[in-house]
Amino acid sequence: MRPQILFSLFAPVTTLTGVGPRIAKLIESLAGAKIVDLLWHLPREIVDRRFNPSIGDAPNGRLCTMTIFVDSHEKGYAKRPYRVRCSDESGFLTLVFFHAKEDYLLRLLPVGETRIISGIIEGFSGEKQITHPDYVLKPEDAGTMPAVEPVYPLTAGLTLKMLGKTIRGALAKAPVLDEWLDPPFQKQRSWPSWNDALVQSHAPQNLDELEPEMICRSRLAYDELLANQLALALIRRALRKLPGREIAGDGQLRKAALANLPFELTAAQETAIAEITTDMAASGRMLRLLQGDVGSGKTVVALFAMLNAIESGGQAALMAPTEILARQHFETITDLLKDINVSVGILTGRDRGATRTETLEKLARGSLNLVVGTHALFQKDVAFQNLMLAVIDEQHRFGVHQRLTLAAKGRGVDTLVMTATPIPRTLLLTSYGDLDCSRLLGKPPGREPVDTRTIPNDRLGEVIASVGRAVQSGAKVYWVCPLVEESETVDLANAEARFASLKEQFGDMVALIHGRMKGPEKDAAMAQFSDGPANILVATTVIEVGVDVPAATVMIIEHAERFGLAQLHQLRGRVGRGERRSTCLLVYAAPLTATARARLKMMRDTDDGFVIAEEDLRLRGGGEILGTRQSGLPAFRLADLSAHADLLPVAQDDAKLILEMDPELKSKRGEALRTLLYLFERDEAVAYLRSG
Ligand code: ADP
Ligand code: MG
Repeated sequence: MRPQILFSLFAPVTTLTGVGPRIAKLIESLAGAKIVDLLWHLPREIVDRRFNPSIGDAPNGRLCTMTIFVDSHEKGYAKRPYRVRCSDESGFLTLVFFHAKEDYLLRLLPVGETRIISGIIEGFSGEKQITHPDYVLKPEDAGTMPAVEPVYPLTAGLTLKMLGKTIRGALAKAPVLDEWLDPPFQKQRSWPSWNDALVQSHAPQNLDELEPEMICRSRLAYDELLANQLALALIRRALRKLPGREIAGDGQLRKAALANLPFELTAAQETAIAEITTDMAASGRMLRLLQGDVGSGKTVVALFAMLNAIESGGQAALMAPTEILARQHFETITDLLKDINVSVGILTGRDRGATRTETLEKLARGSLNLVVGTHALFQKDVAFQNLMLAVIDEQHRFGVHQRLTLAAKGRGVDTLVMTATPIPRTLLLTSYGDLDCSRLLGKPPGREPVDTRTIPNDRLGEVIASVGRAVQSGAKVYWVCPLVEESETVDLANAEARFASLKEQFGDMVALIHGRMKGPEKDAAMAQFSDGPANILVATTVIEVGVDVPAATVMIIEHAERFGLAQLHQLRGRVGRGERRSTCLLVYAAPLTATARARLKMMRDTDDGFVIAEEDLRLRGGGEILGTRQSGLPAFRLADLSAHADLLPVAQDDAKLILEMDPELKSKRGEALRTLLYLFERDEAVAYLRSG
């Protein structure tokens, strides 16, 4: 359970004074619903009131704090605002008030007295003036005005004043926490305590203190990274501790499958298979990531691992993120296992009633050796007779928790996680820590790179004409419709409109597939395209992941500028799978921003997924890389992976060392580290500590 000392921080923001339900809603959408979320909402700019010129020296447009003498008041009338004439030895200044109450202003700025004022100077027909000064103070109250104010990112309806006050309230609730950093390390970095770092990050005195590299912000970023790495290390350790099984089949099934393959395994595939086989034979539990670009041939590697489990008398499960992919894997595998005595089943959300019951029975009895499926495999009533290996494809759509749930369906289940998304090293570390990793670099032989071109959408006519020529010569064409603010409804409208217009031109050879379709409809559309009469498949991004139609050689992507690089790469990976030369046309809406142009150029210049992923990270920053929502990668509040990348390996080593020296986090520092985990909401990891 969360330690008491943090209770105040995890209370809802409504417990702060002045925060009612309306404000709370705005704050929630901006930062989060809890007080702790406000602590992480750091200022992006400052208002600096330390410039104190005389009136004569006060430059136009600049924020000035000045000591002035009040000369006279001039009432407003009709549309003319209320004016207060002021001066010092160097010149005159007019304070302008719209909709002002006279008695209030007379009290605020009594004639004949000196006041401190702060506001932005405007030049107006040769006069200097300030409209609605931010501050008007008696000289003795000058100290109540903050010399520098933080400026926070805002949202419509929430003023800086309101948010600033609320954040100050939140900061006042921050407890003093025991230090979790190693003292020599903290000293070497000259990092302040957590409390000081927090308070100072919210009270920048100069612009350079807003930089992520400044010591206070670095410290907070490190705290977050350390919590992340420590949590991962705890989860991994708990997994490793779980007894594994020594799985080493006799190779008979694999030999037969090898003979069935229409190609030779590449050296990279052989290496990956060997690494997996070694892991499986070891007594510990396997948790290995198989990373390989789109089309690099991961499926075969997974199949050999699964056959190894089956040879040893166990079962294997392969889980895919979508129905389409699950079906496709099922077919590929059934094909590769033709005439081999392995029974393969499928279980997706679509399988219900009697079929489902039968599949479940077979799994429980052990008469199914291998099952391919979707999330449906997680369901409670799915039980295996003897699950030995869980393979999870395209894992970035599943959470850590889900991966573990599948593994929990057996005893000592080995897990192989496959990803086609080339995750940059940095991000890999944040989501997996030091997970064992096999990489399939390069592609199977005989592949030609996809010829990628960019074209503005006012030349759509030419694009359609070239599609016409392509289908005439027997090509199959994907036509991907734009993603509009991730709204499925709008996506759908776009796809349907494009479908209708292409149909006018090409008639029945056009098919449509989108995320709203029911399973069988999707299958039918897919089948029409892969083996049937449809030569053009209009699609929303449902085809993004893993679909394999070797005859497809043309990929059109509309509004390519709206897609992430990694996503474009995934999409392009759908073509270039067969022997024929493939083309990818990136259709964009002009004018492009500089970044968008750089990204599309990147797509033209390389087809190396890892290079693209690194570049995407650089151009867009970590949070956005895969479209965070679908990525399942952790989004950091304080750490900025481009600025703090060097802190990540340090945090990783730190976490390792911590657990070596104090495995149960029982020392004083260990206690503080537990608090750190709770502070960053890694409660799940702490639970592993207790049970492990
Ligand atoms: P991934 O899942 O990594 O994107 P797949 O496993 O779907 O890639 O493989 C892509 C294509 O390459 C498939 O059509 C597959 O049959 C083919 N393939 C796999 N391995 C080889 C190989 N060693 N030589 C030739 N083709 C291969
Ligand atoms: Mg795949």
